[in-house]
Amino acid sequence: MNNFVNVILPIPLQQLFTYSITEAEKDFLEPGMRVAVPFGKSKIYTAIVAEVHQKEPTAYQAKDIFQILDEYPIITKKQLKHWQWIANYYMCSLGEVLRSALPSTFLLESETQVIKNKEFMLESSLTDDEFLIIEALEHQEVLPIQKISAILDKKRVLPILNDLLKKKAIVLQEEIIEQYTPKLIKYIRLNERYNDQKELGDLLEELSRANQQRNAVMTYFSLHGATKKPIKQKQLKEVSKVSPAVIKALAEKEVFEIYTIQTDRVNFKEATDSFKELSEFQEECYNELNKSFEKNEVVLLHGITSSGKTEIYVKLIDQVLKQGKQVLYLVPEIALTTQLIDRLQKYFGNKIAVFHSKYSLNERVEVWNNILNKSDKAQLILGARSSIFLPFSELGLIIVDEEHETSYKQFDPAPRYHARDAAIVLANLHKAKVLLGSATPSLESYYNAEQKKYGLVELNRRFGNVMLPEVELVDIKEGYRKKRMTKHFSERLMVLINEALDEKEQVILFQNRRGFSPIVECKSCGVSPQCPNCDVSLTYHKLRGELKCHYCGYHKPLPKICSACGNPSLDTKGFGTEQIELELQELFPNHKIGRMDLDTTRGKYGYHKIIEAFQSREIDILVGTQMLSKGLDFDNVSLVGVLNADNMLNFPDFRAHEKSFQLLVQVSGRAGRAKKRGKVAIQTFNPYHQILQQVTTNDYATMYKEQLYERHQYKYPPILRMVKITLKHRDYIKVNSGADWLYKSLYNTFGTNILGPTSPAISRIRNQHIKTILIKLPQDKSINLSKAVLQKIKNSFQSIPSYRPIRFNVDVDNY
Ligand code: ADP
Ligand code: ZN
Repeated sequence: MNNFVNVILPIPLQQLFTYSITEAEKDFLEPGMRVAVPFGKSKIYTAIVAEVHQKEPTAYQAKDIFQILDEYPIITKKQLKHWQWIANYYMCSLGEVLRSALPSTFLLESETQVIKNKEFMLESSLTDDEFLIIEALEHQEVLPIQKISAILDKKRVLPILNDLLKKKAIVLQEEIIEQYTPKLIKYIRLNERYNDQKELGDLLEELSRANQQRNAVMTYFSLHGATKKPIKQKQLKEVSKVSPAVIKALAEKEVFEIYTIQTDRVNFKEATDSFKELSEFQEECYNELNKSFEKNEVVLLHGITSSGKTEIYVKLIDQVLKQGKQVLYLVPEIALTTQLIDRLQKYFGNKIAVFHSKYSLNERVEVWNNILNKSDKAQLILGARSSIFLPFSELGLIIVDEEHETSYKQFDPAPRYHARDAAIVLANLHKAKVLLGSATPSLESYYNAEQKKYGLVELNRRFGNVMLPEVELVDIKEGYRKKRMTKHFSERLMVLINEALDEKEQVILFQNRRGFSPIVECKSCGVSPQCPNCDVSLTYHKLRGELKCHYCGYHKPLPKICSACGNPSLDTKGFGTEQIELELQELFPNHKIGRMDLDTTRGKYGYHKIIEAFQSREIDILVGTQMLSKGLDFDNVSLVGVLNADNMLNFPDFRAHEKSFQLLVQVSGRAGRAKKRGKVAIQTFNPYHQILQQVTTNDYATMYKEQLYERHQYKYPPILRMVKITLKHRDYIKVNSGADWLYKSLYNTFGTNILGPTSPAISRIRNQHIKTILIKLPQDKSINLSKAVLQKIKNSFQSIPSYRPIRFNVDVDNY
């Protein structure tokens, strides 16, 4: 009897591939182990074993595997099942899921480029083969694995390379090694003891003989009195002109305490804090959640901003950890969660593992292995959407925080999954519970709760009974007509900003666009410069004097004259965060302005630095895009201003209203969290818009009712499901004719439930012309059946030679 193995290759082909194995290999191999296999003429891939069996393939002669790469499975059976579900539901190949799911060091292949790790010290512990490879890499900086195989004259090189990776002797070229670690700024505060007048008097008396030290303490007082902000060590040194030794001496005497505002993320220490005692309302909510979990697998917690949801999560987490089970805590954007990590770390210490796509491959592999081995260091796993792929052995609870956030959805590349929905399936495999939390739940989730598919618990009070911020709508139509605007600021907003600054409070200003101004337009002929690769106007970035494409990254200097008419009359229209920042610098020259958007937060610690600066009150006014709405908690912000609410309301998307509501309520929630009631000012041309009215009264229920009515009327989710097909090709005529063919084939099955083919608002990106077709799947029809038909049609499409080169992307639940 011959033995075979079906493996998953990390490529976008639907089927599994069969290889032949020996009797001994059969006894050893298990699903979830890696094997090196030949593919095509000369390629080597790392593949994952899915099944060991004895059925000879009929269509082709099975090749032998090269070798086995693992001693035990690195992927669990539950993961394989989960990934199979993802591949089926989102209509992609298992190989595509594999690529997204595994850190690339796990998937070495002949094409992988290897370089020597510069920090590696040559040791005698290398084997001969290993030594040869390292030596070759001394001469040639980068080598594809194929070449290495030729150098050693061996086909079986992947285990050697895996060992070198483990020894940290080599790294993969795709890995951008970030050597930069955040420089932690040191702050100084006076020991609490000296809040006591007598103690302070004694201290000054004592220091009267140590002139320098006394000087340092006095300077501290004058700085602190003037700004009420935390005092940097550097600042104290500069103003007082004392030497570092003086400050050190004071710290040793425990007069000063030196501290940093944020602790580092990786080196978690022991837990330091006990849990906060829940308020009466939190306690009640916690009990309701537990009760709801008795009947439901998934529970939605609708709790207004600053109601203290996190503290409730903490109690639930603790409960599950005590049962010896793992908890997955999903967040929309890990880089924005330094505050949360800090908080959780105080409670759970080194039980926390953070999984982050910006971490180096080594760090990610470490987290992977810790989870796989059920290490104590990985009981509570915090991560963004891709952490649903981790090798959990025994999950007890998944928390999806801010479940309404669109960043849970992966749009490109496949698998185009929604982490919230995939998490629910994952939990099901583990018989774990799921908690969805949000102050502004997505319509789908609230609908599911209403349909009794999920449990629902509501928490309508802020912690400490701080009132929700007072939201004011500021009509700027009048302001512009009467020329009463100061740049982009209404009189009212200016008054409010000045009031807040006078009180030494901080301000957040929200503008939904980055850059200086979205478009440049010629005043003579009306033409605006376009991206040569995409069907879109270029955005002006003033600081660099550049026009930039936000879709493909193309950029060029701002031209002096209009390329269409030759007149020097290019003008800017609309406005973005960068322009607001510059205006603020002019209007408030004595205050520090900061900006948080994609352009200022690049790199691993980009966000970290800005959040830290704002938290330590180095920044008085922070301008930013929707990043500002994501779960940040600042205690000194009394005013949130929205510069223009209209452009998001008018966005051409069936969810524009829902999303605007969510965004505005969330940014408003950043005002006045800890102490007193905050203020929110929303500038708009249309203060009577129903969504804006609902934001002012925080009326989720009415928003939900009205929006759901519209979804019924116009047949949109959550009433039914949607699948979007995107076709792309350089040749417009080809794409067009392909789209027409596809529409006709789909029409036979789906009838009027298909929309299109249409050219999207931006119909060409990176020189690829785009056509989309939307399929609406009624809830009553079998979704699986519809997908099977769609898959068949896709196969026929791709069997037509002239259509084969057209990129065909399927996006299930494309919203
Ligand atoms: P949400 O996530 O609902 O917006 P948070 O959990 O961030 O709210 O809580 C808001 C603020 O209230 C935080 O600063 C938090 O530390 C504080 N807080 C919440 N619950 C408690 C509690 N039980 N005891 C003390 N402080 C609390
Ligand atoms: Zn472009």
